Amino acid sequence: MTAIHIYHFMPDKLNLYGDIGNIIALSKRAKWRGIDVKVTDVKETAGLSLTDADILFIGGGSDREQAIATQELFKIKDEFKSAIEDGVPALTICGGYQFLGEKYVTPDGHELKGLNILDFYTESEKERLTGNIVIESATFGQIVGFENHGGRTYHNYGTLGDVISGYGNNDTDKKEGLHYKNLLGTYLHGPILPKNHEITDYLLQAACERKNIEFGPLENNNVAEENAKKVIIDRLLSEK
Ligand code: GLN
Repeated sequence: MTAIHIYHFMPDKLNLYGDIGNIIALSKRAKWRGIDVKVTDVKETAGLSLTDADILFIGGGSDREQAIATQELFKIKDEFKSAIEDGVPALTICGGYQFLGEKYVTPDGHELKGLNILDFYTESEKERLTGNIVIESATFGQIVGFENHGGRTYHNYGTLGDVISGYGNNDTDKKEGLHYKNLLGTYLHGPILPKNHEITDYLLQAACERKNIEFGPLENNNVAEENAKKVIIDRLLSEK
């Protein structure tokens, strides 16, 4: 049977707050539909081709690890950009999201060059934007997660949605994340996918459509998962 091939970039460096849970969520929800999944951990990129990649994933990391990872990913910048332009679904979290832009400026003014795949930038401050976050998204409904970042990201692309509680991209415009073609960038850890199966399914469905794999219903139902999410959101909003 044809499998969905996930490329997990720099899993040893970019795995803050359990971001690897996103890979588990993608794998489980594919398998519950009878779809096989293959995960390739990418630690070195020289000569890497992404032509058989169905989903790309980059997690978050500290400024230090982000700098090391950026150097490595620079080697496949053009490959990565064409995959995104071709509509390959991708999820990038926090540090992984930031470095798709032009630059990341640390709180002490040190400038880290980003991959410049998209036209945006991030400036960091010492005061961190931390806590639980709830977003209202036209595409995914309500999204819940946890954020902890010094970076403030500014862009004019589509977003994941409007922030109801928490910060999101920065501390001014009340928007969270970035949505361009099938690329999602977000500040949400937690990790995001086990808490928000709508996003997991969006990525899987996009991957299946590109590969002509049938994306059917789950073998088990996920009412418990949906109820758990509703309980978390209700509690967070009532604490506001
Ligand atoms: N270095 C980034 C920041 O603090 C990313 C942190 C993260 O991935 N959680 O803004």
